[in-house]
Amino acid sequence: MYQNVKHIFFDLDDTLWDFERNSSNVLQGLFSEYNLSAKLNTDFETFHTTYKKINNELWSLYYKKEIDKQYLRNNRFNIAFNEFSYSNYKENLEVTEHYLARSPYGKHLKEGCMETLDYLKEKYQLHIITNGFKEVQNIKIDACGLRNYFSCIVISEEHKLTKPDVEIFRLAETLANCTKEECVMIGDNFESDIMGATGAGWKSIYFGKESQEIKSISRLTDLIDLF
Ligand SMILES: [Mg+2]
Repeated sequence: MYQNVKHIFFDLDDTLWDFERNSSNVLQGLFSEYNLSAKLNTDFETFHTTYKKINNELWSLYYKKEIDKQYLRNNRFNIAFNEFSYSNYKENLEVTEHYLARSPYGKHLKEGCMETLDYLKEKYQLHIITNGFKEVQNIKIDACGLRNYFSCIVISEEHKLTKPDVEIFRLAETLANCTKEECVMIGDNFESDIMGATGAGWKSIYFGKESQEIKSISRLTDLIDLF
């Protein structure tokens, strides 16, 4: 099935870099430093669940170009605070600043990440296509020692294109100098990674709950058997 494949493209967040764990660690620290438990009258888990929901909604609006990067950054904590009847815009900006400064330096990768990349890099050209902000994504890639594994690193903000837009996959083919038949995309987001890649005529492997309908893996090291 993968005999024509020469180029493996990975998503970054929650596919290679453990966004959930790295982000949660920073948020937990800030929650305690700003004494948010008392101010919001809730525990970290409840706050975190609410924050993630609001953050996802704002990212959807950002992708639809209904809000810009600044709005997303400067309001997500405030909106989450408001959900708990707490309002402090200035503090929201401070939390935002600390969150943005700290979270890209998180060093947790998904289990088996390095082992899998060490294996694959001997046989394939590896690349990244990530939806995100360029300064943040570049810090993550460097802080975790991922940079040297990848030939092309396509960051959505740099090209004003986001997955699942077919154009970001076409751009990736041009940058990697390959054809769609030679490409496979691996990612944890069904819509942007899997539907996006499939729409561009690429093969794809979903990293998440195993399913009968689509090719999927539940651990990165499963790729060692597939390739
Ligand atoms: Mg992802």
